[in-house]
Amino acid sequence: MASEGFRPLDEKSLVEYIKATPSLSSKLGNELDDLQIKEVGDGNLNFVYIVSSPSGSFVAKQALPYIRCIGESWPMTKERAYFEAVTLKEHGRLCPGHVLEVYHFDRVMSLIGMHYLEPPHIILRKGLIAGIEYPLLAERISEYMARTLFFTSLPHRTTMEHKRAVAEFCGNVELCRLTEQVVFSDPYKVSPHKRWTSPYLDHDVEAVREDNALKLEVAELKSMAQALIHGDLHTGSVMVTSDSTQVIDPEFAFYGPMGFDIGAFVGNLILAFFAQDGHADQENDRKGYRFFIPTKEPRIVEVAHVEDFESITDTGNRADCERRALDFAKMLMKERRKFQGIAEVVSAIHELH
Ligand code: ADP
Ligand code: MG
Ligand code: MG
Ligand code: MG
Repeated sequence: MASEGFRPLDEKSLVEYIKATPSLSSKLGNELDDLQIKEVGDGNLNFVYIVSSPSGSFVAKQALPYIRCIGESWPMTKERAYFEAVTLKEHGRLCPGHVLEVYHFDRVMSLIGMHYLEPPHIILRKGLIAGIEYPLLAERISEYMARTLFFTSLPHRTTMEHKRAVAEFCGNVELCRLTEQVVFSDPYKVSPHKRWTSPYLDHDVEAVREDNALKLEVAELKSMAQALIHGDLHTGSVMVTSDSTQVIDPEFAFYGPMGFDIGAFVGNLILAFFAQDGHADQENDRKGYRFFIPTKEPRIVEVAHVEDFESITDTGNRADCERRALDFAKMLMKERRKFQGIAEVVSAIHELH
């Protein structure tokens, strides 16, 4: 966990770093005189640089020892890059079609060099907000989840392999703790980090806080370690074109319940669904835009602050969409035992709509 030798890179020092790193310079065809470097990290945590030369490209992602969007006042171990790199490699071995190749990893610098997903790849969340249909997405993401989750679970592995891996990923505890805080704790209590569409949803937020039946279900859902989960599998961690589906950003990877990944992804699709009314306009009422994946285990939809809703400019309209999503999420958590499969969840959504 050496921090000696660590230094945050910028566009300029990155060039020197690349020159001294054969596994990266070779990706640029060793043509280092005319490099283009662009920082594109729209994420909350890290710095992401696209590097290209006339004969090649890659992405360099560096974790700094704090949370980017908050600053140095919120320290966060830069070791997360190590767990992201290990998971990219492990998930990539299990599902090469949907996970990026890692070209280089430097643990001291917390820097990953990986395949650049060129345009027209965009973040899935943005595609969903724009109302684009992805007919192959359900099958592809299901394949990703099925392969990465099953093959890292105890039913597939030996006890020795599994326990060794679980022990190693216990090292990513800071990130796991953050997830537990923002997903399983903050929504249910008074917290300075929580945001909502105020004053419209003030009452709804208070009702969640006082809902003991709901809190009991959440406590139960915070269950045991099963498989090497991605840990942050929302629609902002998937990049897509009409025929490509690529999963990025597994820095929250941990041995946790499979339902956490499956539920986070399905939950984000449900959020995108409830946001559609807010994006409807005269040209497109978005009524035909329906998308669901054939998977089980409905899970939590948290009171998250997501672009799907954030991008609805009319505040009252946004709050209505958010409230419907929230009511649905509460129902899904409390009555989840009644649902036998995703088809029943989809019918329930349509009924509520
Ligand atoms: P963070 O951990 O900070 O959320 P991400 O890994 O999600 O960082 O990356 C932030 C953004 O950078 C993504 O939303 C995407 O737009 C872009 N990005 C990340 N990795 C790649 C890649 N391999 N190819 C192209 N764009 C990428
Ligand atoms: Mg991200
Ligand atoms: Mg992002
Ligand atoms: Mg991330």
